[in-house]
This record gives sequence, C-alpha cells and structure tokens, in this order.
Amino acid sequence: MSPDSPCVVGKQAVLPPVARRLPARTRLAVAAGRLGAAISRGMGLGNGGVIGGRIALTLDPRVLSRIGGGRTVVLVTGTNGKTTTALMLSRILETLGQVATNSDGANMTDGVVAALVDKHRAPLAVLEVDETYVPAVAAQVHPACLVLLNLSRDQLDRVGEVRTTERALRAVAAALPDTTVVANCDDPLVTSAALGSAHPVWVGAGQRWHADAVACARCGQAVVRHDTCWHCACGLTRPDPLWTLTGDAVETREGSKITLGLRLPGRANAANAAIAVATAARLGVPPEVAVAQLRPIADVAGRYRQAWVSGRSVRVMLAKNPACWEETLPLLDSRSPVVIAVNSGEADGRDMSWLWDVRFEQLRGRQVVAAGQRATDLAVRLTYAEVRHTLCPRPLAAVASLPSPGPVEIVANYTAFRDLRQQLGDD
Ligand SMILES: [Zn+2]
Repeated sequence: MSPDSPCVVGKQAVLPPVARRLPARTRLAVAAGRLGAAISRGMGLGNGGVIGGRIALTLDPRVLSRIGGGRTVVLVTGTNGKTTTALMLSRILETLGQVATNSDGANMTDGVVAALVDKHRAPLAVLEVDETYVPAVAAQVHPACLVLLNLSRDQLDRVGEVRTTERALRAVAAALPDTTVVANCDDPLVTSAALGSAHPVWVGAGQRWHADAVACARCGQAVVRHDTCWHCACGLTRPDPLWTLTGDAVETREGSKITLGLRLPGRANAANAAIAVATAARLGVPPEVAVAQLRPIADVAGRYRQAWVSGRSVRVMLAKNPACWEETLPLLDSRSPVVIAVNSGEADGRDMSWLWDVRFEQLRGRQVVAAGQRATDLAVRLTYAEVRHTLCPRPLAAVASLPSPGPVEIVANYTAFRDLRQQLGDD
C-alpha cells in the first residue's frame, strides 16, 4: 500500500490528511517546522523531535488539531512502557500505511506536533504522550484509540499524585465518545480511568507493582486481590478481559492463543506487546500479522543494547521509577556484576525518596557498584538493603573498576541512561 492510499480501519475508510485543504497559516507552519527540524538535524543539534514542533506551534497555535485531525491517531500513555508500546504499534500499523510517530520519546505537545509535521502526509499516527499532556492532545486530535498501560508513582515533584492523573484520564475517556480505550484491567487505577469510556477494550496484561493501587481510586477502601482478580466493596472490580497475557502467549476470550516469541526480554515487554496486538486488532490488523511485526524488535531507543566497555560486554537497561525497577531487577543475569547509575536531573525528578520504594534487597550477594550523580544516596539505600557494594560515580569507570572479567549489567535512570548512550556513541 502506498503512503497516500486510503487505509481501512474497522469498517471506516480513512483518507490521508493531504486530501484535506489546510489553511495557509497551517501550511506555512508545517513547512517551517519541517525546515527547522531538518536544519537541527543537519547541524547535529538533535533529531528535530522537538524544535520542529515548537516552530509550527509558534506560527499556528492550532496546528495540532489541524494536522492531527483527519488521520487515524492512536495515543499511548501510562507511567511505563509508552516508548516501547508506541514503537510496537507503529511497526504493526505500518502494514496498513505510513505512520507518523514520535519514536524518540519526545512526548509533550511539541514532540507530538513535530512527529505529525515530519510525516504530514501519513494517514496513521501513533503518538506516545506524557500522562499530563493527554487531556490537551486528545481534545485536539480525537484519537481512534487511547491506550492506557499502567499508572504508578513517578517524579512526584513534577507529575504529582497518581490519583490526580487517574481522574484526569477518566475525564478524557468520558469526553471521547467515539474513541476506543484499550486498557490493562489488571491495574485498578487504569481500570477506573478507562471505565469512563463508551468503548473500553480490556487486556489482562498483568501487573507486578501493586503499591499504588492498595486503596480504591473511587472510594478509598482496600482493593482485595485474589489470584489475578481484584475488587473493591464499592463495586469497582476487574473487568473480564477480551485479551489475556499468559506466560509468553496472548489469548483471546474465545480461546485462540498466539505465542509472542519476542526478542525483547521480560514480562513487561510481553505486556506491552499484548496491548499493542489488542489495539492493532481494533484497527483491523490480524493478531498473527501483528505478532510477526513485533518479533524482530531487539532494542527500543538503545535499551537492552549490548556494548563494549574496557574490553567487557555490557548490557544497558533503563529503570525510572519503582514499578519499572520491579520489572527490571528480575531481568538481570545472576552471574554478572551490576552497575546502578542514578541521577536527579530535572527530567528524572529531583525527589529521590523513590529509592526507598525499590526492593534492592533482591541484589544481596551480588557484586554491585553504586554510580551516577546520586551514587551516595544510592549507597545509603543499598547499605540498608544489606547489599554489599562499592561506590564510583562515573558509570563507565564503575565498569572498569570491577575486578573480575565477564559481562556487566548496567541499570540507569533517565538522564543517566541518556548520558550513557551518548558516551557509548549510541546517540
Ligand atoms: Zn472502591
């Protein structure tokens, strides 16, 4: 299918936005945004994932609704897994036509606009959106699907309390009567938000981190869990999922089962895949086709990538908040030493209290190096967790400091991970 062909979504043929006549001001904003992004890339200042959007928004503050409307748009949000799930969905939807996507993780309004400006003729868009920006973006692009992955504490000083986010997303879901909301029903907070939708699609994608949904989002009473089910006395209960992740397979309610066989490791990536497959099915892609698109994906924005440092093989992973660490720590090879790098830049959140929510006790008996700008805070936490460790603030020097040869695992939070990618020549 050519990029400009109409694509069939459900029973609806969607014309590419190029078929619509945009106002002169918007056309100018798109052209200037594309030029600005190209100059930024040409001068090695970045990939243009933000600047193109800023220019376009400056020239036409309504550019998002004008170039977002008329496409089939999927918004992906949640605390963890946005970048991975958006990448998975874009790979799947490429089987229908050209897809605009903010694959570099620029997930605020300017990043979203930049992605749409970059592929301004694409009939489809998969957009990762920061939870706090979903109300503004959704109101302008009227998405065909809104994907709600999970909600948990993250950057408390910037994002705020997770229940505030849940209420905002619930209002968004209720305000979009034509939008399908694809939601993980194993997360009570996500379920509460998605129940506002007229068209929810429930996915039993699992949840390892329960600490932010101990009390009900609706009434404050205790959420009672039994096996995979949960309920509250007020009536909020786990909906019956249409799709369920069981081990390495996705099952439908009717009993058909597809093995995922992903190259990406871990339960969380399988959960992201299950949700991506369910979303794509809503847009007309058969599950078998969707899964085949996911299997070759080996890394997401440098995550899980192998590199060589001081003659040793290292694998670099990203973990940004307690729920993310809960999924990442079990992935670590038990035979390898671990370098943990923690920063507290603005993009990480200045508040470091989350260190005490991570169960670093799992690393007892392992060889561990505390690194990053906040290596000392981390070292205190590791001491209380009774994890023997050394301290070396620079992550690559920390790898070199390890006495024994062999592979090393590095787990870093957001800016520590970003800096490592640059140092490894990845970015
Ligand atoms: Zn309740």
